[in-house]
Amino acid sequence: MHELSLCRSLVRQATLVAAEHGAPGIRRVCVRIGPLSGVEAELMREAFPLASRHTAAEGARLEMTTSPVRVHCPRCEREAEARVNDLSCPLCGHWQTRLTGGDELLLVSVDLAAPIAAPSVPSSP
Ligand SMILES: [Zn+2]
Repeated sequence: MHELSLCRSLVRQATLVAAEHGAPGIRRVCVRIGPLSGVEAELMREAFPLASRHTAAEGARLEMTTSPVRVHCPRCEREAEARVNDLSCPLCGHWQTRLTGGDELLLVSVDLAAPIAAPSVPSSP
């Protein structure tokens, strides 16, 4: 399953972030998925618990947002938001556009569990 290997690599990235910060665990992993990435959000949701088992990300919540499809138009020389099923330029209708966004899968942020605080020593007056 394609999504399982994607989740594994997300979990790997997230656990690296946690290790860098000395965090004992991960609470939330936020990713951005382009509608043209071929990634099924539903399959990601199913694969994430499997991919994160026995890692710092076990039990973390996976949050997914969809990024817009963006194209660059060589005629207008501008970038604009296009529709998933129509990648022509929304400004002039030119069809030979270049896709600049919407096919990505990005790790946006990782919420870390706070390290267990050392018991504070009460200062005696
Ligand atoms: Zn255009």
